Amino acid sequence: MNNIDIIRDLPKLDLHCHLSGSIRPETILEIARLEGIPHHTDDLEEFKGYVQAPSECKSLKEYLQRFELTLSVMQKKEYLQRIAYELIEDVSKQNIYYLEIRFAPFFHLDGGLTFDGAVEAVLAGMEEGRRDFGVISNLILILMRHHSPQKSLEAVKQGKKFLNKGVVAIDLAGNEHDFPPQLHREAFELAREYGFHRTVHAGETGIPENIITAVKELHAERIGHGVHAYRNQEVYDFVKEKGIPLELCLTSNIQTKAIESYSAHPIKRYLEDGIVVTANTDNMTVSNTDLIQEYEKLVTEIGFSLEDLRRVILNGLEASFASEEDKDHLRRLFNEKFEIHFSK
Ligand SMILES: [Zn+2]
Repeated sequence: MNNIDIIRDLPKLDLHCHLSGSIRPETILEIARLEGIPHHTDDLEEFKGYVQAPSECKSLKEYLQRFELTLSVMQKKEYLQRIAYELIEDVSKQNIYYLEIRFAPFFHLDGGLTFDGAVEAVLAGMEEGRRDFGVISNLILILMRHHSPQKSLEAVKQGKKFLNKGVVAIDLAGNEHDFPPQLHREAFELAREYGFHRTVHAGETGIPENIITAVKELHAERIGHGVHAYRNQEVYDFVKEKGIPLELCLTSNIQTKAIESYSAHPIKRYLEDGIVVTANTDNMTVSNTDLIQEYEKLVTEIGFSLEDLRRVILNGLEASFASEEDKDHLRRLFNEKFEIHFSK
C-alpha cells in the first residue's frame, strides 16, 4: 500500500468543522433554486466558484464572504437536518469516525426557526447520520464575537437543555481584531458552571495574546487555530506548558492569509516541540478540502511521517469532547486500525 492509500485508510477525526462551510455545493444550489435565492448561475461547476474560496484569498474577510450564500440556504428545519446528515455521509467516506460539528444557532433564525428548532434540526441530521453511517458526532454552539455579551449569555442558557444530548461545547468565533475574547467572559463562565466544554477561536489571524486570554478568562480547554502562537514567546510557552490542544486547519490558514504557504505552516515545529496539535478541515466546501487532502498536504508539503499523523490523530482523540464511553470505543477502534499500518 502506498502512503496515499494508507492516508485514506487511517481512522480519522475532525474537531473543527463548521456546518455552514461544509455543505455540498449541489445541495446549496438545489435549495437556492427551490427557495428562489439569488445564486449567480445554474451551472454547478461555475456555481462552485461562488461557494469555494480561491486558494489565493486576499484576506479572512474575502474568505468569510463565501458564507453569505451558504447561510441563506440554512433557514429551514428540513434543510439544516439534511445538511448535517449529508456532512456525516461525506465524512464517513473519509474514514472519519468522530466529528465535532460547530454552528451558530442565531444565524439560522431568519426564516422563522427558533433557537431550539435550529439546534434540534442539526442534531436530528447528526443522529440519522450516526444510525446510517456509524459516525459518532457532537455539536458545538458558536457564540459570535460581534454579538452582544447578553446574546452570548442567552445562547448558553438556551443551549443548556441540549447539553450532553448531542451538544457538548461552546465556541467563540468571528472578528478577532475588533472584539477581544473577554467581552464574552460571563457567558463562558456560565457555560463552565453548566458543564459545557469550551473552545475559542484565537490567534488565528493575529493577536496571539488572545490565546492566553481565552484560556485564563474564558476557560478555553482548546484553541481554534492558535496558529500564531509562535509569534509571542510567552504565548508559545504557555500553550506548550499547559498542554492546550490547538485545532489547526492547514488549508484554511493559508486561504485566510494567516500563514503564507503550506511550507511556512508551523504545525510540524509545534508537533516536534511537544505542543498538542490536531489537524482539522475548518470548512470542507469553502476551503474545497477534506481530511484526506489535509493529511496528504501534511505528508507531501510539510514532511509529516505516518507516525506523525498517528500522533496528531491520537492527540485529537484525547482532546475531543467525546464522552469517556465514546472515547474508550474510539481508542479501541483506532488502535485496531492502526495495527494494520504500524508495527508496535
Ligand atoms: Zn473555525
